[in-house]
Amino acid sequence: MCGIVGYIGPRDAAPILLEGLARLEYRGYDSAGIALVTAAGDLFVEKKAGKLANLRTALVDATPAAAIGLAHTRWATHGRPNDLNAHPHVDCSGDITVIHNGIIENFQELRDGLAARGHRLASETDTEALAHLVEEAYAGDLAAAVRAALGRADGAYAVAVMHRGEPGRLVGARLNVPLIVGLGDGESFLASDVAAVLAHTNRVVFLEEGDVADLTADGVTITGVDGVPRERLVNVIDWSIEAAEKGGYAHFMLKEMHEQPGAIRAATAGRLHGDEVRVDELAPIADRLAGIERIELVACGSANYAAAVAGYLFQDWLGIPVRNTVGSEFRYSPPPLDERTLVIAVTQSGETADTIAPTRYAREQGCPVVAVTNTVGSAITRDADAVLFLQAGPEIAVVATKTFVTQVTTLVLLGAALAKARGRLPRDRERELVAELRALPAKAERALQMSEPAAILARRYVNSRGFMFVGRGVGYPVALEGALKLKEVSYVHAEGYAAGELKHGPISLLDVEVPLVAVATRSSLQEKLVSNVMEGRARDARVIAVATEGDEAVRAYADDILWVPETIEALSPILAVIPLQLFAYHTAVARGTDVDQPRNLAKSVTVE
Ligand code: GLU
Repeated sequence: MCGIVGYIGPRDAAPILLEGLARLEYRGYDSAGIALVTAAGDLFVEKKAGKLANLRTALVDATPAAAIGLAHTRWATHGRPNDLNAHPHVDCSGDITVIHNGIIENFQELRDGLAARGHRLASETDTEALAHLVEEAYAGDLAAAVRAALGRADGAYAVAVMHRGEPGRLVGARLNVPLIVGLGDGESFLASDVAAVLAHTNRVVFLEEGDVADLTADGVTITGVDGVPRERLVNVIDWSIEAAEKGGYAHFMLKEMHEQPGAIRAATAGRLHGDEVRVDELAPIADRLAGIERIELVACGSANYAAAVAGYLFQDWLGIPVRNTVGSEFRYSPPPLDERTLVIAVTQSGETADTIAPTRYAREQGCPVVAVTNTVGSAITRDADAVLFLQAGPEIAVVATKTFVTQVTTLVLLGAALAKARGRLPRDRERELVAELRALPAKAERALQMSEPAAILARRYVNSRGFMFVGRGVGYPVALEGALKLKEVSYVHAEGYAAGELKHGPISLLDVEVPLVAVATRSSLQEKLVSNVMEGRARDARVIAVATEGDEAVRAYADDILWVPETIEALSPILAVIPLQLFAYHTAVARGTDVDQPRNLAKSVTVE
């Protein structure tokens, strides 16, 4: 994620680049940097940890005039968010400058090879490897060198590259990360999104997967990484800058829901090898895993429901007791802990006070601690022995969507790795899991096609007095998350219950004005769930079911159905939650609430 801007043309590059970065600020920052090539052929680089303001301060009085440059806002994935790891990265010769969004998965292998061949790598990033790969491939043609370098890199990228000796040329490329070309009058731009260039031009080329764009001030030539020319349309954009920041979606929440297929892909990247799961991040505690006798999962909010899914799976896969507790409760009545208890803390921001305190306590008791977070450099990463990053990219909407699904995805990978380390993951199960994880992004894409049906249902049920969400097994946390989403964004009361609990109390709430939302995807407990739903139906509740495509039997008891593709039960929460997110979103839109910043909420809760 985060921002790329490149400029080539007759005007002074730095102000244009900084203004472009400011337009990308909504994507989140941990550092920012700029590189310029002056008319004399000198390379100027400045980069600073923290917000764009820090870079601006460093640039006062010191910025040379230049007609070509690159600028970047980083959202760290590999290496701490400090000055050194900030982009741009420069090769050994000081000729080649690279900025990058995304992840180079084989970075370790590439970095090791480069170091062995005598390159000096200054940062800890995956990105820097690219600068040196371009250096190795360079023979007077920057675009050719970039193509050769990318041919050696696995992963996801949007890159922009320049060479001090070719000041009339800017090269960009994309694979699974957005990058656009802006075509102005005698000037050209590269950017992560349209918002960064809209002040200068509305003529835009959306690069497609594997495109390499060779820019001059007068235009662009596009090829594949193989050098074969590609034709791309020039689009004329009529969005406002605000709409452009949201990628044309009405809200960040909607945009981020649609980013979920890519986010799932990023969360599994580097953790699936052939038909095996490998979580290298567990290396610091590898020798302690065999002795683990129980697991405590600690989290708050949506992360707590992601942890609850993991609770079911881990207990089944590992055959040891697993408990999940909200941080604020764990904190003041902690269970007895020792070095044989693995503590797993899940927090999107990595700064959640209620999750950090239990983690610190667990550390003091000698427990191995694993953190699952989206934020490199966050507080929790300092308190954990091992850290698994979600790689979901910044989430702007206050309510969690893509971070929830990537938390579940990452926890599934963690659970599989733990089971494997303890000899409890049969090969055929591992193969099946990997195949399903690989198929998941495309299935999530299909689940997103429920947006329109969910919008219709949202309008149909908008005047309901409340909603009762139910599920069983791993479907139960999905029901809790579905109810939480609806409460958070639409301010409608919703309860999440284990379906079997309905008859023990909350069934008294049900009538024709309180629909039952059932997480009814195919599972080992589906029949039991259907019985519970029938009990609700007998009390006049209307039933909305999230069901598995092709499961026609659901029609017998559901008034309305939101379909998701079939997958294995362990992964079903990742798909089943998507229509519930969409339903919450469209209900909020129908009720006119502030979708991206619902009242009373904050994105990162750093207080008790
Ligand atoms: N993986 C790169 C890094 O950690 C790029 C991160 C980004 O997209 O900003 O530096």
